[in-house]
Amino acid sequence: MGKIILTGDRPTGRLHVGHYVGSLRRRVELQNSGEYDKIYIMIADAQALTDNADNPEKVRQNIIEVALDYLSCGLDPSKSTLFIQSQVPQLCELTTYYMNLVTVSRLQRNPTVKSEIQMRNFEASIPVGFFTYPISQASDITAFQATTVPAGEDQMPMVEQTREIVHKFNSVYGETLTMPQILLPDNQACMRLPGIDGKAKMSKSLGNCIYLSDEPEEVRKKIMSMYTDPDHIRVQDPGKIEGNTVFTYLDAFCKPEHFERYWPEYANLDELKAHYQRGGLGDVKVKKFLNNVLQEELEPIRQRRKELQKDIPAIYEILKEGSAKAREVAAQTLHDVRDAMKINYFDDVDLIASQSEKFRQD
Ligand code: ATP
Ligand code: MG
Repeated sequence: MGKIILTGDRPTGRLHVGHYVGSLRRRVELQNSGEYDKIYIMIADAQALTDNADNPEKVRQNIIEVALDYLSCGLDPSKSTLFIQSQVPQLCELTTYYMNLVTVSRLQRNPTVKSEIQMRNFEASIPVGFFTYPISQASDITAFQATTVPAGEDQMPMVEQTREIVHKFNSVYGETLTMPQILLPDNQACMRLPGIDGKAKMSKSLGNCIYLSDEPEEVRKKIMSMYTDPDHIRVQDPGKIEGNTVFTYLDAFCKPEHFERYWPEYANLDELKAHYQRGGLGDVKVKKFLNNVLQEELEPIRQRRKELQKDIPAIYEILKEGSAKAREVAAQTLHDVRDAMKINYFDDVDLIASQSEKFRQD
């Protein structure tokens, strides 16, 4: 078995720079590395509906936004299969069987789901579908026999839950499913990029995002309003780096050549940080530098998006073809799962023969 990637995003909004550093940038690198035999990228609309059941139009509208973001970042449909989750009904059937292998208390311990429940004020009325979405994520991952799941830190509990299901399934029913591994960003700042408000995570649902498709002026305004060190009031004051969003973003995006181009007074980020910590460096200057860095990264993505937007039917066609391919692969896994679980009555000639034998003797 080769190396297989499965990963995806919820169509709850356009993609933001948190997605980019947490997963998207890496996916494109992995796609182009030639090291993976198959790459599946899923737009998780069924999962998005678990907490947006009363707003299907939001999910529907954002499918194309996410697809445009994918393609403009460099995901290439000739190398990666891009598909829509709800168009692969086999995933739901897998979920039904996996549900028997997970306890309610195990789901209640999932720290990402816990904090998402709080964030959405769901405490008293959690939709069952939302509560069980880690199980459906296990179906997404295993249906494609994925070995590797490139994702941000918040996905660790999901992949851990999937690994437990794989372990349990294989020990109860025999070796059938592939054990996946999460592939986290290699840089701490990219694990969980904070929002521009300094809150723990940039998230579509928190409204604290810089979107990949934001116009240059919007990006600049968002950077200028960014949360920094609240105690760094006068330029000469020493400043804090930890928890300072502007520096976290520089950790995620800045390369030494950016200094050559935009701020040659400093050789690298360490020198810039040291000056800020000593005092004598104002936030506005650092923000202007970050703006240059980010604009350089986002400009080609934005331009490609504008080109792609000219032919929207072609994008739907890519998703339709990808979904058909995904269905075939998932159907094969489901077939193996049904075999392993012995619910393949009509395919099992031995079963029918042995039952005939048994009843003949009676
Ligand atoms: P929602 O608020 O609807 O859950 P989201 O912004 O959290 O949306 P998801 O679609 O849930 O985005 O996440 C898609 C992928 O992007 C996951 O791999 C996740 O780990 C990664 N990701 C999302 N936000 C960040 C972030 N701020 N930093 C790093 N990675 C992130
Ligand atoms: Mg999320």
